[in-house]
Order: sequence, then C-alpha cells, then structure tokens
Amino acid sequence: MKESYADNAPGSADTDRSPTIVNSVLPRTPFELDASRPLVYWASGDDPYNNTRQALSNVDLSASKGKRVLLKPNVGRNAEAQTGVTTHPQVVAAAIDAFRESGADVAVGESPIAGVTMSEAFENSGIAAVAKKRICPLIDMDVRPYVTYEIPDGVAIKLLKVCREISEYDIIVSIPVMKTHMHTGVTLSVKNMKGCLWRRSKVEFHMLSQLPGREEKPLDIAIADMSSVLRPHLSIIDGTIGMEGLGPSAGTPKPLGVVVVGVDAFAADSVACAIMGISAHDVPHLRMGAGRGHGVIEPDSIDVIPENFKKVLDPFARPPEKLSIEFSGFNILDQQSCSACQSTLLMFLRRYGKQLREKASDNEDITVAIGKGHEELPEGTLCVGNCTAKHKNCGIFVSGCPPVPSEILSRFYL
Ligand code: SF4
Repeated sequence: MKESYADNAPGSADTDRSPTIVNSVLPRTPFELDASRPLVYWASGDDPYNNTRQALSNVDLSASKGKRVLLKPNVGRNAEAQTGVTTHPQVVAAAIDAFRESGADVAVGESPIAGVTMSEAFENSGIAAVAKKRICPLIDMDVRPYVTYEIPDGVAIKLLKVCREISEYDIIVSIPVMKTHMHTGVTLSVKNMKGCLWRRSKVEFHMLSQLPGREEKPLDIAIADMSSVLRPHLSIIDGTIGMEGLGPSAGTPKPLGVVVVGVDAFAADSVACAIMGISAHDVPHLRMGAGRGHGVIEPDSIDVIPENFKKVLDPFARPPEKLSIEFSGFNILDQQSCSACQSTLLMFLRRYGKQLREKASDNEDITVAIGKGHEELPEGTLCVGNCTAKHKNCGIFVSGCPPVPSEILSRFYL
C-alpha cells in the first residue's frame, strides 16, 4: 500500500534545512461566510457517509472547482475507526466525493504524533482503503521539508514549522473527531490544525514555560496563536464515534452518529462543544482565539441549521482533573508532557496497572512522572520518557520518546 502514498517532494525527502518563510496567513476561505453571524450545519443518523454528504450539501462547494483541496483528518495515531480516536473513514470518503463532484483536485494529508508511522495509521484507520478505492492520494506530510509561518500577534509563539503542503494547497479542510482532551478540554477543528505542524515541532507546544502574568496554560495560548495563521477554510467535525473522558486517545468511545459542518471553524467547534454538553467559553484556546477575532463562539451569534441540534446533545464525560484518581494506587505527575507520552502511559496503565500494583510491595501509591516540567521528584518515582531523564537517579527511568509500554513493564521488573 505504501506505493499509493504521495511523495511529491522535489528533492531530498528528509531535510529540515532551507525552510521557506511564509509571511502570510492562509488565504481567506473561498466559501460563503458572514463572519459576524456564521452558519453551522449538522446531520445525524446511522450512516456517517450520508450524514457528511447531507451536512456538506448546505455549503456551496463550487468555489473549490479547479482548486487543490487538502483534507486533514485526525489520524495521527494508530487506531481503528470504532475506537473514536481517528476520523471515521466514511466521513473522509464523503468529503473526497463531495469535493471531487465539485471539480476539485483532492488529497488527504496528516502528520502523525511522535512514534507513529503515517502509512500504518492510514491503514488501521480505514482511510487508506477508502482513498485507494477512489484513487485519492494520501500524503505523509512529515516527509518533505517544512515551511515557516510567522505569527505577528503571537503571544506564546511567533514562528511555526508547518508541513509544506499547507502552503501549497488552495483549500484546507479540517476533519477532526469530536473528543475531549486532557490538556486542552476538547480537540475539534481549530485544535486539529496542530496536526499540520511538522514532525516533532508539535511537541514544542507542550514544552512552553508558563507566561508571566498569564493564568492560561501556555499550550492553550499557543493554540490560540496558531489559529491566527492556520485556520481551516472549512470544518467537518466527525461525531460518528467521539471520545469522552481520557481523550484524545485513552478515553471511552462515544457513539453519537452526528456530523457538524461550518466555514467558521470556531463556530463549528462551538456547536460541537454544545452537543458535547460543554460551553466553548470554557475551552481556553477557543475563548482566546475568538477573543482575538479569529471566529465566533457566542451561541447567540451562530445560526445552526437545522435549529433543533439539542436533540442530539449528549454530554461527554470530562477528562479527570487528576489522573491518579482515574488510576487508583498511582500518583501520576504530569508536567508539560506531550500527547505521545500521555497515551503511552495511559495505555500502559490500562494494560499493566493491576500487575504493577500487585508487584509493589507496600500499600503506598506508585508515583509515575511524565513530561519535562518537573523541578524535583520524590524518591522512587517511575520516570517515563526522555523528558524525565534529568531525574533518572531518583527512581526507575524508562527512556524513549515516546517510550514503549512493554519497556516500562520490563524496567519495573528489573
Ligand atoms: S519524552 Fe514523552 S513527553 Fe517528552 S517529548 Fe518524548 S513523548 Fe513527549
């Protein structure tokens, strides 16, 4: 299947040298938008393909005729569709068909999180199969050198390393899954654009230091910064099977059978939040981005079609404030970790947590640390991932970036 992956790199595929500075934001959306009163559409039912086509039928896609359209699903992790981790393949299939019928040249692209191979993620998600059937190119956006985007009004970040395709395609469509997120509250179409950041530069968002005088987490501020230059031209939010609780990867699948579409990504996210039983004002990156004028989240300023979307409202369980409550017997210290380490640890605890507890000789909680932001750690801490290397002498250290779950187990048993 690998041969079907587009690698249109003009030269060496593996260099991060000679980046191009792109001084402009993404071009304005070509689709009709009343920026002061955006429209958001939704459809629900058992068939994700039909839901997507129905919701998309409200948008005049003729502006995409003759244009290069890049579909950006959430498929940076290696997971199957029914897990709620990755975008449902039938939603992607419907988007490919809708844009093709409008005369667009369509491709699907993603940049995976650390430790994931893009070709495997496309295969396991089922997106490779629907793309292959339609002879639609799949792009590993990490292959080619990045371009640099400047963020003139950036607060936490001023420059972004962005996958080159983002600057080359005329229209970028964000197709996230409706999920809660332990670090950012939710991950929807605005946050999904973080997957357009090149290779490990995604991780840098998680490593920023707290900004003096700011209460918000630097990660949230950075996503709001990013949204000033990397806003999608159209959002298709996949709520076929969402994820609640320990999202974005270790939560519980939440079957909803709904798809939300909007030209204003913030408005689409706001309506998706409402369906999840969450106020967009409680999601810091949406609140800050909207506050800077990047989109609308105020429910009274958004027209939803059909109006009665509350009939599909189904509150999502929020991420726990403290992971140690979720995994009793563990004291989990997470300071500035990225999603890759977090998913590894959560997968590990789900699979081996009980075994580890039984092996522990006393009744005290097992302290586990991830992330690079720890100044000091208690004696005996299980330090997971390279970011904790400076504390390796205070307990058990498991190297790797991201670390491998089986390695955590074997280090514990040494
Ligand atoms: S060690 Fe873990 S937290 Fe640090 S960058 Fe790697 S995956 Fe992310």
